[in-house]
Amino acid sequence: MNKSTRREVLKTLAKGTVFIPLGSLFPMIARSEDGPKVELDDPQAVALGYAHESITEGETCDGCQLYTVGDTEEWGACVIFPGKSVAAKGWCKSWIKKTT
Ligand code: SF4
Repeated sequence: MNKSTRREVLKTLAKGTVFIPLGSLFPMIARSEDGPKVELDDPQAVALGYAHESITEGETCDGCQLYTVGDTEEWGACVIFPGKSVAAKGWCKSWIKKTT
């Protein structure tokens, strides 16, 4: 790449005209609420004590920082379970209070 071309690329980047979807860079955080529901016998679910219905008052997936609202109110995505759906009223040991 010659100096002129490199300069043009840097100018383009500086102008912010290049858009790279974050989901393509970090597939883990891509929305996955349309994926299959997390199975309760999934080894990760077992390890984290995941349940489709929380028994811990005030702590549900839809109140967790790691939850992304899905296409329905009942199910959404969680970075802990990429490619799968978790119940909005579910819970696991990784629950973190939503701050936003
Ligand atoms: Fe639900 Fe646990 Fe994911 Fe939080 S980390 S959204 S509590 S499964």
